[in-house]
Amino acid sequence: MSFILPRTAIAGVLALMSLAASAADAAALSRPFGLALHGGAGVILREKFSPALEAQYRAELKQALDAGYAVLAAGGSALDAVVATILPLENSPLFNAGKGAVLNADGICELDASIMDGRTLGAGAIAGVQRIKNPIRLARAVMEKSPHVLFTGAGAERFAEQIGGLEFVPNTYFQTERRRDDLKRAQELEKASGGRKVSISDEGDHAVDWERKWGTVGCVALDAQGNLAAGTSTGGMTNKRFGRVGDSPIIGAGTYASNATCAVSATGHGEYFIRIGVARDIAAQMEYKGTPLAQAAESTLAKVAQLGGDGGVICIDRQANVALPFNTPGMYRAFRTSKGTEDVAIFGNK
Ligand code: ASP
Repeated sequence: MSFILPRTAIAGVLALMSLAASAADAAALSRPFGLALHGGAGVILREKFSPALEAQYRAELKQALDAGYAVLAAGGSALDAVVATILPLENSPLFNAGKGAVLNADGICELDASIMDGRTLGAGAIAGVQRIKNPIRLARAVMEKSPHVLFTGAGAERFAEQIGGLEFVPNTYFQTERRRDDLKRAQELEKASGGRKVSISDEGDHAVDWERKWGTVGCVALDAQGNLAAGTSTGGMTNKRFGRVGDSPIIGAGTYASNATCAVSATGHGEYFIRIGVARDIAAQMEYKGTPLAQAAESTLAKVAQLGGDGGVICIDRQANVALPFNTPGMYRAFRTSKGTEDVAIFGNK
């Protein structure tokens, strides 16, 4: 039996359909989007900065923020925004990721990075790479071009060679004089403490607390389609033992994103962040208990502190609520949302 609608009814249906379509367009446009980034947490004190250095940090944080926000404002994906934000931070010698990464006990940079797509729960990560200019790109390639989630060291670089398209650099490209000085100090400290203090970051007294900053970079984003993503990139910790892997490339510890809850990127003393499973713990609180984002982030960070660790997290949820808690004196951070909120900050008091 065929079912024929009179012409007026067809016109009515078409009018309704186009009304529905324009309502969907309007909803898509009015959906909030935004992103947050960090450039590491630690003992970051205003009095240790010259006005010029502080201005340089703020300018580079803002530049990275603008790069990611432009992607979102043009209707781009949260994943693209995360990569666009992290690339300039990896290329800057100011941050502990890519160029300017901290040195391990052998004086070599070993880089870790990860990325996660909240829409699919796809994830990619690499640990201990020595020659990839932009580790975040390789992490993304692991997610998109391999059946695996985490590659390490030489295997990660072999994978990069096989897929092509990624820039290789000598390890000396990453190494800066400032980081060589940091390593020297850490090793002197280790010697003076009879081997007890392996990393500057283990230092509990405040004599050298100006050194206790982590410098990892990360970004979390929500796009106008309602998808979340997160990414993190780091050189790890000064004077780390060769092969040591922190939380940054561990999905669920340093990075997590799920459209069901939120996107998170962490920075801090990785050994503690791994044991708490920080990024997933924040999402799990939202998922299991309906805890609001900021409260979940605070309570997870309190668990890290209780264990003896410090650092911070950046988080965003599907309503573009942003939370950036840290339990260190400072954290390089910035965020911007389509709801008109924006900030760039470094110290506890901005
Ligand atoms: N979380 C990083 C690590 O432990 C360090 C950092 O955040 O700066 O490797």
